[in-house]
Amino acid sequence: MKNLPISFEFFPPKTPEGIANLREARAKLAKFNPEFFSVTFGAGGSTRDRTMETVLEIQAEGHAAAPHISCISSTKAEIADLLQRYQEKNINKLVTLRGDIPSGEVAVGDFKYASELVEFIRMQTGQHFHIEVAAYPEFHPEAASPRADVENLKRKFAAGANRAITQYFYNVDAYFRFIDLCAQHGITQPIVPGIMPIYNITQLARFSNICGAEIPRWLKLRLEAYGDDMASVRALGVDVVSELCEALRDGGVPGLHFYTLNQAGLISQIIGNLE
Ligand code: FAD
Repeated sequence: MKNLPISFEFFPPKTPEGIANLREARAKLAKFNPEFFSVTFGAGGSTRDRTMETVLEIQAEGHAAAPHISCISSTKAEIADLLQRYQEKNINKLVTLRGDIPSGEVAVGDFKYASELVEFIRMQTGQHFHIEVAAYPEFHPEAASPRADVENLKRKFAAGANRAITQYFYNVDAYFRFIDLCAQHGITQPIVPGIMPIYNITQLARFSNICGAEIPRWLKLRLEAYGDDMASVRALGVDVVSELCEALRDGGVPGLHFYTLNQAGLISQIIGNLE
């Protein structure tokens, strides 16, 4: 992994055990000298305070920390307040999203798309923040067409985003074909692949259904055939994801962003396989 920037994504823990587990995972992952740790933001701002607390704890340990910020069902005043608080705490990187549409009744909010949030952040805070946005090699499930989705990514960059991180995928061609498509649309900014280790096939299939990331048929069938044999599920997962990372690295990606689910074990094995 020499010279390849890496970053790790966490979710903000809820319980004292969760906080302790995350500290332990973070200490293990810090050994890989990540460029930054990021912390997700729950739908509709539901983890707003916990996201901030986790980010500040990471920063206090001496690491670069990037909160995710999403705009769905938020007002401009709420976002402006959050930006001001992050600026005051010397946080200078944000992962900027629309957010998943929460189920049930939700406030309408002032923003419809992430590009509007990027524009608002630039308007409010100038160049203070380095802005990461989301990209979808297998295309966002709500996108009208692949072209419309790439045009949306282009709009996010035009609004002031610096870099993109992708949704996870297991088909390396999807990423490189997407990069070619982006280049054809005049996108020149870096697009970092998001990497999801395989912890549990049921959970992964559920995530993938929601976010539109394909689990190749052969992989799904082989993982399902292991049933409750988690050691075999994880061993195959580590093999497959290590090879994916290797192919991405060899293809010249600008970095790797790992979705950790607050666990260090599998990722440490994957990174170990790349060294
Ligand atoms: P957008 O870029 O706004 O796109 C949403 C959809 O609208 C796309 O289909 C797009 O093509 C379409 N679209 C955009 N503009 C227009 C337009 N003008 N007209 C018509 N269609 C348009 N979710 C969370 O809730 N919290 C998190 O912390 C979080 N972290 C994430 C981190 C990464 C790296 C990634 C890849 C995703 C993350 N998500 C998170 C999930 C994300 O919020 C969802 O995928 C969400 O459904 C879309 O967010 P977006 O920022 O990509 O939205």
